Parts: sequence; C-alpha cells; structure tokens
Amino acid sequence: MAYERIDKYNESTTKSLSDLYKNVLEEVGEDTKREGLLKTPERVAKAMQFLTQGYHQDPSEILKSAMFAEDYSQMVIVKDIEVYSMCEHHMLPFFGKAHVAYIPNGHIVGLSKIPRIVDAFARRLQVQERLTNQIRDCIHENLKPVGVAVVMEASHLCMQMRGIEKQNSVTTTSAFSGEFLDSDKTRKEFLDLISTKLS
Ligand SMILES: [Zn+2]
Repeated sequence: MAYERIDKYNESTTKSLSDLYKNVLEEVGEDTKREGLLKTPERVAKAMQFLTQGYHQDPSEILKSAMFAEDYSQMVIVKDIEVYSMCEHHMLPFFGKAHVAYIPNGHIVGLSKIPRIVDAFARRLQVQERLTNQIRDCIHENLKPVGVAVVMEASHLCMQMRGIEKQNSVTTTSAFSGEFLDSDKTRKEFLDLISTKLS
C-alpha cells in the first residue's frame, strides 16, 4: 500500500463526548438502544473532534513552514477555497468559498498552505466575520506582505434550516490590509479577478 490515511482520535475525549451525546439523544426523545443509533454517540463524538481539530493546529506555524525568499511582486490569488465551519451560536455548519490574495514583499508562501490555514481556522466554532479577519491577520503578520485580501461567501444552515425567511441567502465578508486598503485600484483589481465567482 503506497498511501494510507489514518484518522486518530483521543480515546478519553471520544468516551466522554459519546456519553454526553447519548444523553442528548435521550433528551430529544430518542431510543438510544435502537439499531441505527447504537454507534451514533461514538460517531458524533469522532465527527466533532474532526470538525474542531483546528484548536490543536497552529496556523502561523503552518505558514512559516513554507516561506521562501522570492522576488515576485505581483498579486498572488488563490480562488475558490472550500470552507466548512460551524457557527458558534448554534453549532450548525456554514460553508462556502474563500478567495485569498497577497502581494509579496520579498517572500512567498507555498500555495497549498493557504487552504491549510483556512481549514485550521475554520475547523473551530466560528463566526464568518472573525474567520475572515483571522485568515488575513495570520498571513499579514507572518509573511509581512505588501497587502492581504480575503473575501468569503458562505451559506449558514442556522439561517436556512431554522425557518428564517432568506433561505437561499449567502453571506459575504471581506478583510483587507496594506495596499488593498490603501489603493482603490489594487482592491478593484482583486475584486475583478474573483468577481466571476461572486454571486
Ligand atoms: Zn448560527
């Protein structure tokens, strides 16, 4: 076998979360002894650990592990990064796309690291506004570029499933630093380059 992906979970966390989720199932009126639910508390316990793994990751370290001195000084854009997170108010998913750009100032970062820091911040309880700012700040502080831009568009299940009127609405947030804040022209260039994907 050339490659094997192994999910590892903390056993004592899995056990205590499983007990709690069993209580949740009983409290909402379920029969935790019926066949389909026998392993549900353990599955949910593992899913929760997966979805909150960002608490144990250090996005700054992820970025710093792949920074390279390079003369390139044009805008670098990574578009359509899939985002899956959970709102901290209802613990329901919100998901969509992030578009991230920076203008290097002597250093570039390995392109795969940008989606990885998005994930590291997204896999925690979040609000979309803070998630957007954290991605910008992490890149700005570690890479010290000329500027950073982040635009995120996401659908929130806490809005869509709970009967609020705007069922198909998409929430857009943005965060800019440096040149993207100071120069209308630079910000417009970025927004034009990603705009075909904005709804
Ligand atoms: Zn919510």
